[in-house]
Amino acid sequence: MGSITLQKVSKVFGEAKVIPSIDLDIRDGEFVVFVGPSGCGKSTLLRLIAGLEDVSGGKIVIDGKDATEKAPSERGLAMVFQSYALYPHMSVRNNIAFPLKMAGMDKTEIDRKVDDAARVLNLGDYLDRKPRQLSGGQRQRVAIGRAIVRQPSAFLFDEPLSNLDAALRVNMRIEISELHQQLKTTMVYVTHDQVEAMTMADKIVVLNRGNIEQVGSPLELYRSPRNLFVAGFIGSPK
Ligand code: ADP
Ligand code: MG
Repeated sequence: MGSITLQKVSKVFGEAKVIPSIDLDIRDGEFVVFVGPSGCGKSTLLRLIAGLEDVSGGKIVIDGKDATEKAPSERGLAMVFQSYALYPHMSVRNNIAFPLKMAGMDKTEIDRKVDDAARVLNLGDYLDRKPRQLSGGQRQRVAIGRAIVRQPSAFLFDEPLSNLDAALRVNMRIEISELHQQLKTTMVYVTHDQVEAMTMADKIVVLNRGNIEQVGSPLELYRSPRNLFVAGFIGSPK
């Protein structure tokens, strides 16, 4: 579980062809990073995968099944937003439990799942706090916790660290990488930060104006950038 295939996926907003046509294979368990300059279509591509935007053309296959027409909640994916999107009046426990309550799960099972997620994320001591009583990094972990309890076949992250200061960003980068090693769940991670891409990814997808310039491991892109755009973006010293 956790494979995502894009076949000739396109997106048009009015007159603007934001994604002309993308083919991409994301394998089960991979950590895939979409990287590229601001406005190149990273968020749009992630939102198409999540089902938060409809494709203008093409097909999205998730775990072998056509998901192009499926609602976001039926795709088995969990999106982690940059702005945390936590409920300020709810405790950490209730914030993490929220999607499970909405799904009608019984309380004992909810508690067990929340406790498991809190253990993985080192949030066990903070379950009774409100979001305002947490640091930025802890809030981000709560947002990830809310995704984990749903046991998605893939996590989708849209620049999750861009609101954090530099030191915390480095810590969270390591935490998310460790989480991936622990859960072995597919992660699709959007960033404009080359260092994040190079240090976290199994596979980097370099985007430019809605097109894929190159797909490869960090080492492949570093050693053999296909063109000047990729070389400039990955910063190969030549
Ligand atoms: P990125 O995440 O790489 O910064 P986006 O995917 O947010 O880029 O945006 C890609 C392009 O699509 C931008 O030119 C942006 O203005 C445009 N765009 C994104 N969402 C919409 C929308 N809902 N309506 C119109 N244009 C949009
Ligand atoms: Mg974006």
